[in-house]
Amino acid sequence: MRTVLLFSRGEHRRFGYAALAMFTSAALLYLVPLVPQAIFDIVVNDGRNASAFSRATIEWLGGNETVRNALWRPALVMCVLAFLAAIGVHFKARLAMGAAERIARRTRDRMYDHVQRLPVATLDRIPSGDLIQRCSSDIETARNFFGNQAPEILRSVLMLLIPLPIMAMLDWRLAIASIVCVPVMLVFTAVQFRRMGPSFGTKELTEASMTANVTENLTGIRTVRAFGRGEFEKQRFEKSSGAYRDADAKLYRLFANFWSVSDLFCFAQQVIVVGLGASFLAQGSLELGAYFYFLTVVTMFIWPVRMLGRMVVESGKALAALARLDEILREPLERDLDPNAADAQPCAITTRGMHIAFSNVTFGYTNGAPVLHDISFDLPAGKTLALVGPSGAGKSTIIQLLLRFYAPTSGSITIDNVPLTNIPRASMRGQSGVVLQQPFLYSKQLKANLLAGVRAAPAHDDALTAATATACIHDTIVGFPEGYETVVGEKGLTLSGGQRQRVAIARALVANPRLLVLDDALSAVDMHTEVSILTALREQKTRPTRIIVAHRLSAVVDADLILVIDGGRVLQRGTHATLTQEPGLYRTLWQIQTEIEELPQESEVAR
Ligand code: ATP
Repeated sequence: MRTVLLFSRGEHRRFGYAALAMFTSAALLYLVPLVPQAIFDIVVNDGRNASAFSRATIEWLGGNETVRNALWRPALVMCVLAFLAAIGVHFKARLAMGAAERIARRTRDRMYDHVQRLPVATLDRIPSGDLIQRCSSDIETARNFFGNQAPEILRSVLMLLIPLPIMAMLDWRLAIASIVCVPVMLVFTAVQFRRMGPSFGTKELTEASMTANVTENLTGIRTVRAFGRGEFEKQRFEKSSGAYRDADAKLYRLFANFWSVSDLFCFAQQVIVVGLGASFLAQGSLELGAYFYFLTVVTMFIWPVRMLGRMVVESGKALAALARLDEILREPLERDLDPNAADAQPCAITTRGMHIAFSNVTFGYTNGAPVLHDISFDLPAGKTLALVGPSGAGKSTIIQLLLRFYAPTSGSITIDNVPLTNIPRASMRGQSGVVLQQPFLYSKQLKANLLAGVRAAPAHDDALTAATATACIHDTIVGFPEGYETVVGEKGLTLSGGQRQRVAIARALVANPRLLVLDDALSAVDMHTEVSILTALREQKTRPTRIIVAHRLSAVVDADLILVIDGGRVLQRGTHATLTQEPGLYRTLWQIQTEIEELPQESEVAR
């Protein structure tokens, strides 16, 4: 209830009006059969033993004689009542659906905003597929609950309760007989839908697996074709499609059983009313009008009762979905990521680089063994640090700590002698330009991609061109028919790996960062271009502090400080000149790489 109230906050008044509309329409619907009942009692039966309802109704319609002579009057009243009931249903649907839509939209926006600001460590823990499921189908389930199931449950209860006092007043024996099957039906429905629960789950799972199959296949279509796995993939899809069909078929079988048996209950309920009512009629203890009222009403409430169990069981699923959404919304946020947060400082972009110092930093990912041990270094503003070492050594982790995606387990990091923990994340990241090995580009124009990191005043076209020139991508871009307006990615131009990396470097440079991080960001660039980019970076007027993670040592020869990392520890430190002089991993790697470069090219061998 707490979760339901929490999500529906702001819509309670509308739901209240919807409930009122529902009550009014249900009450009006049950008034409709009172009119023919009165006609039976008074017009057909001359009013002998007529109920108080019948007398009051006929009086209201103008008296016995008038009604006899103008039967259109009761007919008109019935039409008006039914029309008013329909208006009630219309308003109920509009109010409840509208409120549900608003709840869904608000929840979607809140979820998106929340996920955007979750700590990276939390995102590591929750699979992205799970998050997508929560942001899409769980919200849809919640919308359905607020717009359909909850109002339907209330409507079913009202449809059952409203006629009870009227029926009891008309004939209490028949009133009891009219609801005798209701508890049995409710229990049967609840049991059936509880049984169907796992089948609903299986259907969703098989559908998700089929969709994942298609997505994976489309994403990796080139690999699938290159490895000739088309037939295998086809069979895999047929299997998951078959599993989906089986789950669906099982559900329909269960539904078929449910509808047929519950039809029998309905029929039994009607037979009881018809039979008992007829015998009371024959005994003279029941009026014809009352009998007609019971016959009509029993068919009116039996359907909602049949739906009640289903709605209650389906609501269980919706409540589970709400709980899953609530679980994410309760995850603590990176508080100061929001630039509007009270403790956030303005992103002071200056031309000066950052002075970065790590002091005895040790770190392990959640529940894992430490991946960094006792890392210390001091990088003055405007200098270049290179991180080299084997794969999995911990180089990228150092960057992640610097950007405050994670916090060190022990030790400290300072920026310009200020503890990193005192610098808001948004501020730190706003002043850093980060380029990853496999950079992400939006499916937008190149220009929009290049300006993605610019937060302050819009960058001047000259700044854009200067950045693309430094990243050696300007000539390539102007070579495209649509130049900077070329759309990249899905349905747009597909860039090569090296081109993507260069666009990402330019994007980082346009923002004029105080810290530039190239995390293996030149790996897909040819050596000639690599040298050009590094030379251009060195000659930049605004000298940001630079951290270069690289496997190719040619990218780090000019670095002011090189750290050789292995197993999360600093094995060696120095410059290229000093490290090539001392025995160790760096010199070995350098020798291997120079030997490879010196190997004769195939064409030369052929010659
Ligand atoms: P590469 O050169 O291949 O990019 P790296 O030196 O940058 O490697 P890191 O990415 O820093 O290495 O990884 C260091 C260690 O931390 C590895 O053992 C890796 O498995 C582990 N690791 C990296 N990211 C996570 C994470 N999000 N959760 C748990 N462990 C992680």
